[in-house]
Amino acid sequence: MDRCLFCALVEGRVNANIVYQDDHVVAFKDIKPQAPVHLLLIPRKHLAGVLDIEPEDHALIGEIFQVASRLAREQGIADTGFRIVVNSGADAGQSVFHLHYHLIGGRLMTWPPG
Ligand code: 5GP
Ligand code: ZN
Repeated sequence: MDRCLFCALVEGRVNANIVYQDDHVVAFKDIKPQAPVHLLLIPRKHLAGVLDIEPEDHALIGEIFQVASRLAREQGIADTGFRIVVNSGADAGQSVFHLHYHLIGGRLMTWPPG
């Protein structure tokens, strides 16, 4: 995807504060953090969003959650609690159309979300 910001980030064409990467998943600090810990976890593979997840991606999605757990522990928010958020479409405020999971923690969060 030529003009996808997160594809560019995966390919090293855009700078990011990367905290974890492997063959399938990259995690980096959100440029506009909404909490003391705010990471974005993305597949290297371009998927525009949750609506594009196919059966062949199921293992990949599982891996992302495993990485999220690992990073929650490493970032010290596993015991206090955290949120994993995926925004999909206009009403949810999705602004980047490469599937990404927000990992947010380090402060008390309210429910329902805004
Ligand atoms: P969305 O609104 O699509 O759920 O989330 C997109 C997220 O990407 C936002 O939290 C935004 O701050 C973050 N973001 C947008 N551009 C960049 C960037 O160039 N670098 C990083 N690290 N985060 C970005
Ligand atoms: Zn992309």
